[in-house]
Formats: sequence, C-alpha cells, structure tokens
Amino acid sequence: MSIYRSLNLILLGPPGSGKGTQAKVLSEKYHIPHVSTGDMLRDEVRRGTGLGRQAKAIMDRGELVPDEIVGSMILHRLDKEDCARGVILDGYPRNVAQAGVLDGILAELGRTLERVIVIDVDDEEIVRRLGGRRSCPKCGRVYHLVFNPPRDGKTCDDCGVALVQRDDDREDVIRERLRLYHQKTAPLIELYEKRGLIVTIDGSQPVEGVTGSIIDALGSPLSA
Ligand code: ADP
Ligand code: AMP
Repeated sequence: MSIYRSLNLILLGPPGSGKGTQAKVLSEKYHIPHVSTGDMLRDEVRRGTGLGRQAKAIMDRGELVPDEIVGSMILHRLDKEDCARGVILDGYPRNVAQAGVLDGILAELGRTLERVIVIDVDDEEIVRRLGGRRSCPKCGRVYHLVFNPPRDGKTCDDCGVALVQRDDDREDVIRERLRLYHQKTAPLIELYEKRGLIVTIDGSQPVEGVTGSIIDALGSPLSA
C-alpha cells in the first residue's frame, strides 16, 4: 500500500539539474505522467504553431515565456484524465506568479501538492552538463555525451534516430537561464518551505543515486 492517495510533485532545480532525467524514471515507477512545460513548448515550436513561433525567439534567448501562455498550457494538461492520480511537474512553476496560478488550478481541480523536490547542483556543474546534453528528437530521451552517453555515441538507444543539441544549450544562453533561475525561480524554495513541502536532494550524485535519494524521501510508489 502506498502512503499517497495521489501524488502531485514539483521538481525544482536549475536548468540541467536533472529534472527531465529523473522525471522520466519517476513517472514509470509511480505511474503518473511527466508534465514539462519546456517539452510542451518545444513541441509547439516543432509543429510550427503560432504559439511555437512566438515562444521560439524567447526560448533561444533563455528568457521566460509569458506566464499567461504557460499557465493556459498547464491548465489544459492538468485537466486531462491521466493526471487525476498525480503528476510530476518539471519546469513549472518558474516564478512566484506561476506558483499562484498553480495553486488556483489545483484548488479548482480538488487536488493538493504533496511534495516539492529541489535538485541541488552548482552552477559550474550545470554548464558542464548542458554543454554535453543531447536528446532524441523523436522520443525526447535525454543523454549526455560523457555522463550518460548513448550506446553508439550518436543515436538514440530506443529509436535509432540521430541525437540533437537544443538551440538554448549554448554557453551564453545557459548563463542567462541560470541568472533567471536564481532571480525568479529559486525564491519558490522559501515559499514552499513555509508550507513544509520541500525535500532537498544532492543532485551532484550519479543519475541512479539521485533517483534513489528521491524515492527514499518520497516513500513507496503508488500501486499500479
Ligand atoms: P533538466 O531537465 O533539469 O534541464 P536534464 O535531465 O535534461 O536536466 O539533464 C541535463 C544534462 O545532464 C543531460 O545531458 C543529462 O544526461 C545530464 N544529467 C542528468 N542527471 C545527471 C547526473 N546525476 N549526473 C550527470 N549528468 C546528469
Ligand atoms: P526547460 O526545458 O524547462 O529548460 O525550458 C526551456 C525554455 O522554455 C525556458 O528557458 C523558457 O524559455 C521556456 N519555459 C519552460 N517552462 C517555462 C515556464 N514555466 N515559464 C516560462 N517559460 C518557460
């Protein structure tokens, strides 16, 4: 038996701290979807929608897309049936205003936030990680050329498709994203700390070590 009836989690941490990597594993273990506003926006960009065209220039500069755009995306996503037993939020909320919007959405849907997991990694490690990040354009699986390489060094282990580098993983843009993280997103830690929701994890461990620490902190997975 699980200790949770539902499990709504936020993964909080700087870009490159491993939120997407951990969310994929946790989503399979806890049987709840991984919801990433970055992935949703990149999908809009790939499909060439109006929203995607608007977001692309902002994302390439490492800035934040307007709150109303991501707020409306997240409302529609959380309202879907597969999120009823919980969700792993990755990349949302990103500032205090978005945290307020999320509170409103969860209240409206009759849900609660169970935990906010902070993945702690220092800035220089982030620059090393993002410089080597590659991802599969088909399934979104994330690799690192040194820390977590694909078997043949260049194509996705699952899809066989050539891996790509994100347009915003350039050093100048990485520095801007880190600056915005410290200025706009890190204050959320104090906000959620006051509600007793924060669990801090040492994100400098290898991938499996980080996963183990999160699972230890969360307790047993939901039954399937
Ligand atoms: P985020 O979603 O927080 O931006 P990612 O999950 O995309 O971060 O990870 C960023 C990069 O760091 C990727 O290349 C990933 O393979 C690598 N990575 C993730 N977790 C670790 C870890 N614990 N140790 C070393 N590299 C990692
Ligand atoms: P990520 O995949 O989380 O690293 O996000 C990539 C980019 O998408 C960010 O640098 C922002 O430009 C944009 N983005 C993702 N999530 C949000 C959000 N919650 N609010 C504003 N912009 C976002």
